[in-house]
Amino acid sequence: MECSEAEWQARLDLAACYRIFDLLGWSESVYNHISVKVPDEEGAFLINPYGLLYSEVTASNLVKIDIDGNIIGSSRYPVNKAGFTQHAYFHRHLHWANAICHVHTTASMAVCSLEEGLLPINFYACNFIGRLAYHDFEGVTVRPEEGARLLANLDDKNILMLRNHGPVVLAPTLPSMFVQMWALQRACEIQVATLSMGRPANFISDDVVAVHQRDLKEVRVPGTVPGATDFAAWVRRIDRIDRSWRD
Ligand SMILES: [Zn+2]
Repeated sequence: MECSEAEWQARLDLAACYRIFDLLGWSESVYNHISVKVPDEEGAFLINPYGLLYSEVTASNLVKIDIDGNIIGSSRYPVNKAGFTQHAYFHRHLHWANAICHVHTTASMAVCSLEEGLLPINFYACNFIGRLAYHDFEGVTVRPEEGARLLANLDDKNILMLRNHGPVVLAPTLPSMFVQMWALQRACEIQVATLSMGRPANFISDDVVAVHQRDLKEVRVPGTVPGATDFAAWVRRIDRIDRSWRD
């Protein structure tokens, strides 16, 4: 297909990301979205073709849309315009949020459905304590007028836990979004497992959470940007399964 070098690279990265989400069990039939900004085209975004499974997404069948969800150029597939509503709101108002995902994984939805949300009871949860925003459920998120409240509730955070619904993770880059989604998913899975044991959970103190968050950057592979090493590793993993996402 005809597009700029930069757009093709963004298409490859996003298609890989859909396949990785699928491999990790984070896909939701043909629903939910991961969206990215096209780097060299103002007001253009890439999103999944509506009606395809994440395992069927390829670089060339991703759909290019404007901020209102209208298709730019042509596409064999429609987009879930209603589902893009909340992504559009964040992309429009948060210029650092080049990559956004929203998922309905069982563990993250379960934690979003708990009154206290994510609890400081495991290693991964400590990454996020004090850094998550919450937004009360108002019904399916398709009304633009909810946008102002989504943005107000997000405030200065980059992860919005939609109560009774699921998380939205926003980041400057796709690998950064991915690695935060990965750790959040692990935190939620472990919380679900812990609370299911019927014994009191061991809560981690604020002091230890602060130390954990201060030292977290030491975990990154030296000289790399957040998530890049993880994302590249998972790209190799999906390549070993099937390289059709590169089409
Ligand atoms: Zn949703």
